[in-house]
Amino acid sequence: MAIERIVDTSSHEEDVDEQIVEVSLRPRLFDEYVGQERLKTNLRLAIEAAKKRNEPLDHILLYGPPGLGKTTMAVVIANEMGANIRITAGPAIEKAGDLASILTNLQDGDILFIDEIHRLSRSVEEVLYSAMEDYKLDIMIGKGPAARSVRLDLPRFTVIGATTRTGALAAPLRDRFGHMYRLEFYAPDEIQKIIQRAAGILGNSIDESAAAMLSTRARLTPRIANRLLKRVRDYADVNGDGIIDTAVTHKALLMLEIDELGLDTGDRNLLRRMIEHYGDNPVGLTTLAALTGDEATTIEDFYEPYLMQIGFIERTPRGRRATVKARRHISINEDAV
Ligand code: ADP
Repeated sequence: MAIERIVDTSSHEEDVDEQIVEVSLRPRLFDEYVGQERLKTNLRLAIEAAKKRNEPLDHILLYGPPGLGKTTMAVVIANEMGANIRITAGPAIEKAGDLASILTNLQDGDILFIDEIHRLSRSVEEVLYSAMEDYKLDIMIGKGPAARSVRLDLPRFTVIGATTRTGALAAPLRDRFGHMYRLEFYAPDEIQKIIQRAAGILGNSIDESAAAMLSTRARLTPRIANRLLKRVRDYADVNGDGIIDTAVTHKALLMLEIDELGLDTGDRNLLRRMIEHYGDNPVGLTTLAALTGDEATTIEDFYEPYLMQIGFIERTPRGRRATVKARRHISINEDAV
């Protein structure tokens, strides 16, 4: 059974409930967007050039694990361009007609953000190719022998696509993007800045050492940093005077069962099962999913990227393997329990 995880990198319903807070935590401009320096340098240049030429930006593909700031970056780009942004997601565009209606409603210079772009259906992708390539929309009018294809002009717009896996993107679609950037995990000091900024917006005071402690538990991911901060803040508001210090943070993290590397019970369960059943031998993704009761895609998108980043899981041609480091961590933790 899938476990409800605090360190899950996907958007939770509670985030949606707290959308107003989320919106205000979301950086709006490059100067507020912490980290990803290489990406910001490249994009700043591209934006300045496009503005100088009075042209729309080339299409941009952002890829990397969930929660690293792809949607946020799309919104920042739109703000920096002074453009409108329309936000949608691959699974929400079911038919070619859905995409056609989105595209025909765009204005010159608009940005169309498509999250999970790898989940577009083939028929929708095909319409998108020509729309991205030369701002034309090919649609069929009528049915049977009387059907004919019509080509409509579209406004000059920019697609920003986001995906957790570029490999799942059809090559012709990938080729339509002028810019492709990978979002990297953040350094702990960048996560600490994000936490301090968010605490300021939320109106809670946080000790520097508490922020530093939280920054090492957030899986190097801003979305988790913000979520952990909100849970620790609940704890501080209920059990104290709202001030987030190391003692409160430590207790809240213990309650949430998040260890010193940011791993939760879900991660430890996954590693423990890999180690118990396979030792240091590789295990296939489908088998692993069956062992833990998770979807294979959940393992690939949510567990694995961070576990690989900290060197706990290795990918081999024959599957995933728990490393010595992971085995040591799990047995230490078991001793502690
Ligand atoms: P993704 O689209 O990659 O899944 P999001 O853009 O939704 O990730 O980011 C999740 C949350 O993390 C955002 O609501 C935002 O508050 C925060 N966030 C992401 N990147 C940054 C950043 N670079 N600086 C500050 N906060 C960030």
